[in-house]
Amino acid sequence: MTKNDYYEILGIDRNASEDDIKKAYRKLAIKYHPDKNPGDKSAEEKFKEATEAYEVLKDSKKRAQYDQFGHAAFQNGQGGFGGGFGGFGGFDISDALRAFMNDFGGDSVFSDLFGFGSRGRRGSTAGGQRGNDLQIRLPLTLEEIATGVKKNLKVRRKEKCTTCNGTGSKSGKRAVCPKCNGSGRIRQVASSFFGQVIQESICPTCRGEGYVVTDACPVCGGSGLETTETMVTVDIPAGVSEGNYLNVPDKGDAGPHGGPAGDLIVLIQEKKHDFFERHGIDLVCDLDITFSEAALGTSKMISTIDGKVNLKVPAGTQSEKVFRLKGKGLPALHGRGIGDQLVRIHVKTPEKLAKSAKELFEKLAEIGI
Ligand SMILES: [Zn+2]
Ligand SMILES: [Zn+2]
Repeated sequence: MTKNDYYEILGIDRNASEDDIKKAYRKLAIKYHPDKNPGDKSAEEKFKEATEAYEVLKDSKKRAQYDQFGHAAFQNGQGGFGGGFGGFGGFDISDALRAFMNDFGGDSVFSDLFGFGSRGRRGSTAGGQRGNDLQIRLPLTLEEIATGVKKNLKVRRKEKCTTCNGTGSKSGKRAVCPKCNGSGRIRQVASSFFGQVIQESICPTCRGEGYVVTDACPVCGGSGLETTETMVTVDIPAGVSEGNYLNVPDKGDAGPHGGPAGDLIVLIQEKKHDFFERHGIDLVCDLDITFSEAALGTSKMISTIDGKVNLKVPAGTQSEKVFRLKGKGLPALHGRGIGDQLVRIHVKTPEKLAKSAKELFEKLAEIGI
């Protein structure tokens, strides 16, 4: 792979002053910093390239070597000195971010641009760590499901620590993470059957943020978060069922050090009902009647999900007959129709007969009923 000329990368000529080099690099770094271009590989590449060029040209000794030998000056075994990043051949984006932080981490222009320091760091490589999603179960009665309901939920969630304003630091100062040198990631070389594999993972010391707090906030112990109880109001639409869930954005845990909050997931549970059994949008219930009611017909007051209605049981009704009360079920979610109430009849056989009742049954038996 041929490398571009460092002077060309920075857009400066070969006798540029140290100040010119710095200015040129700053301009490029602002433009191509990964925090400003999340996910943009070509910007990342340009940032890396510019940083590598700057790291060489800002150092008069390395610059002289480069002027004399070109890129060959920094290849292993040549030029007589290491690149400072373990050889320039392996200069990668985390090297670039580390170098950039070493040079400009305390620079107020960059602090403002990238939100370093007290405001925490955003972006792809660090700081943007999102808070956890939280899950909460919400048991509802069928009556609540029938109409929809507004609920105030008490949620234990992590919020930005008010003492340190979420920075985790007493003074607001933070230092570049010594473990990952600010990249937020660590690389490990593991041997496998296929040879050496480089594994990159999130730095455990700074949890990917690239920074560590040196004087921890006494209230939150440096996490920048404190656990609080907050009330969250949710509007549950009519017709939900067990296992449905509602996503309430940003009501999960706050992200560490200014990262975005996770979501609150409200999981619907259905409370068992004394009278109704739910079958989709239909409600099923049982109604006991006597032999004579079944034979002669009757009318019965029966509970529905919204009050009582009169159910006419015609003469000659058989046990297990099902009557349908149209529109007395549950609404389908999002207003797509409404179910029915199904009333299942049970004709109860009397278990103990008084003498007079027994005589009447004997008479019925005589005539074949
Ligand atoms: Zn780290
Ligand atoms: Zn705190």
